[in-house]
Amino acid sequence: MAEAQNQNMEKEQDLGKLLKVRREKLSALQEVGKDPFLITKYDVTHHSEEIRAKFEELENKKVSVAGRLMSKRVMGKASFCHVQDLEGMIQCYVARDSLGEESYADFKKYDIGDLVGIEGFVFKTKTGEISVHAEKLTLLSRNNPHEYLCSECGKKPAAVICMECLYEFLNEVFLCEDCAKTHACDEEMRLNVCNSPRMGVCGYGGSIKYPDQFVPDAQTT
Ligand SMILES: [Zn+2]
Ligand SMILES: [Zn+2]
Repeated sequence: MAEAQNQNMEKEQDLGKLLKVRREKLSALQEVGKDPFLITKYDVTHHSEEIRAKFEELENKKVSVAGRLMSKRVMGKASFCHVQDLEGMIQCYVARDSLGEESYADFKKYDIGDLVGIEGFVFKTKTGEISVHAEKLTLLSRNNPHEYLCSECGKKPAAVICMECLYEFLNEVFLCEDCAKTHACDEEMRLNVCNSPRMGVCGYGGSIKYPDQFVPDAQTT
């Protein structure tokens, strides 16, 4: 029991740290005029599956793709990442020599879940994976988790909002997972609090493995 509590506390501390780091990264971008929330349009020429299907035709040709950053493997001056778009996933090769110092330094700060636009040419890696060699990167949206706290304990991040409280008493009641267990209202009347335009926070699709959690699956920086 004590051990479980300890683990919970550790998880909370990690979450606090994660939120703080992400907020700081966003502020840093906004301060230098690179506010990702100001970019409202990005022209995509191709989607992931299409690039694979038409590889022969597109090899060495310029494309621009956009999607969610799903993995990132930084290896000094060059990195690989995977971007998920409407059709699937495509690997991108991101090298300092192609992007320039500044842009590559920016890329290193991207988080899993961020929305990015990648312009570059189509090629095949030595291992045979059809990829895009990035020449220009645009950060379209930062993945900052929501910051709603539980209205009952005031400490833990909110997992659900009680619609019964909202409809019946015009009261916004946010509940963490623990407080939700003891909340009197009908369980069916709860909506998940997640990063979505509905909650006023967008740019985050949540975890693939655990759709209810708002911490990304893997942090590979
Ligand atoms: Zn609570
Ligand atoms: Zn309620």
